[in-house]
Amino acid sequence: MRFKKFISIQLHGTNKNIWRLILCTAVAFILVLALLVTAVISDVISEPQTPYYIGGGASVSAMKVLPSTETDKPKSSGKQIAITFDDGPHNVYTKNIVDELEKYGFHATFFVVGNRIDGTEYNGGSALKYVLDNGHEVGIHGYTHSTSRYYDTCSDAIFKSELGDTLNAIHKIKSDYNVTLMRPVGGRITSERTKNCGYSVIMWSVDSNDWKYKTPAGNSENIDTIVNNVMSGLKEGSIILMHDIYENTYEALKIILERISKEGYEVVTVSELLGNAEVGVKYSQR
Ligand SMILES: [Zn+2]
Repeated sequence: MRFKKFISIQLHGTNKNIWRLILCTAVAFILVLALLVTAVISDVISEPQTPYYIGGGASVSAMKVLPSTETDKPKSSGKQIAITFDDGPHNVYTKNIVDELEKYGFHATFFVVGNRIDGTEYNGGSALKYVLDNGHEVGIHGYTHSTSRYYDTCSDAIFKSELGDTLNAIHKIKSDYNVTLMRPVGGRITSERTKNCGYSVIMWSVDSNDWKYKTPAGNSENIDTIVNNVMSGLKEGSIILMHDIYENTYEALKIILERISKEGYEVVTVSELLGNAEVGVKYSQR
């Protein structure tokens, strides 16, 4: 009671303002101190749950909390497609197409014709080497590409030699290359031969019909038609059919790659698109 009286007396005295100032300062000091203590305590408590660092001292649980390492990033956007090229390799257009794909880091699949690898008409041997050296996939199309040798009507002996001779032609360029895919000429094959050919049989879900618009070369209307044929049917998992032996195909591809990359598509090989493609099974998309 004495203290209260003392305060009361002093407050009524000349030191009234000084005492007010001391009281205010004391209250402010206590408040700041309380805030600091709260901040330190909450930091200590929360650290194990939400670490703000990652690296040398980070625990396993911390690595899971912050998925900021390379391995935690998704490998692709999920919008994968495959572009396939038939009837090459061609010394000019196949190489140009590979160069264009490389600009985007994309990989395509080439279904090759054996006598165009061995022969001098297209000088396909060096083009095939270029395809393989750049990490693209190669499958068998046929050796002669003769319309009298379609795989749904030819003899067993011819069927065997069309595939076997093409495989040999590929192996002359790269002896240890493992061929797992085959696309029948004209898309024609019996179900029996699909089952027993020893390869995954790859058809397509989007047809560019580029061969119908190959002439005149450089014609912008034809090039636009090829582009539209591809873009209008495109969706995730598509397998696109083109031919790497025409100038218009190459010109259309340049436009297609620019558009699809903007739309978030990624071009991968057929084997990458399908995952574990089975031998003796026919596929036209993922
Ligand atoms: Zn063909």
